[in-house]
Amino acid sequence: LSLGPAAQRPQAWLGEVPVLVVGDAIDWTAVVGLALSTAPGTGRLRVQSEGGAPHEQTFAIKPQRYREQHLQVSPRTVDLSAEDQARYERERDHQQQVMATLSTPWPARDALHMRQPVPGRRSSSFGLRRVFNGQPRNPHSGMDIAAATGTPVVAPLPGTVIDVGDYFFNGGTVWLDHGGGLLSMYCHLSQMDCTVGQRIEAGQSFCRVGATGRVTGPHLHWGVMLNRTMVNPALFL
Ligand code: ZN
Repeated sequence: LSLGPAAQRPQAWLGEVPVLVVGDAIDWTAVVGLALSTAPGTGRLRVQSEGGAPHEQTFAIKPQRYREQHLQVSPRTVDLSAEDQARYERERDHQQQVMATLSTPWPARDALHMRQPVPGRRSSSFGLRRVFNGQPRNPHSGMDIAAATGTPVVAPLPGTVIDVGDYFFNGGTVWLDHGGGLLSMYCHLSQMDCTVGQRIEAGQSFCRVGATGRVTGPHLHWGVMLNRTMVNPALFL
């Protein structure tokens, strides 16, 4: 959404969550992530410009249909044991802290053009309604790229490593922070060649493709997050 001209970057919120604003004094643009679960209708953005009164900007949310995908995976990754369920809940709480990262400097407008982190075929797309071993689960919230175990993954933008871990569903995982609530995640990794706090340049290799966590084979799961919401990485390529 265009927020118009202003000397200073306006602030914008969707609910209570700050939204990415890019641009310059000629025109500022709010780049709003909408959750897959968002109902069609009218979206409302709260905007605060320097020296001005806060105001609301509305936008239309149109319906989008996604296909269904059936997958067969290890039964222990669908019907969780009490121990695995407790592990998942601990990891989910930790991931929510990671996802709330909001740092400066904010990315420039041209940062919204990313390079694909590994070459390869996109084996499944964002938004697919997933059925694991016959049971419906959360929709697919990223892009899967087919690549062999060990293939280097490069940063699509400059960023800072904010999390490195090995998680129940996501396997070996790295999160990068690009500023302003724009984050990216890399899952099912075989190797994480980076540490929290490390600065990674665009095009620099920082981890390797694998088949860890809930997978049917080696691939990179790539996620992009805006205002704590997973959005379609294809929009940035
Ligand atoms: Zn995936």
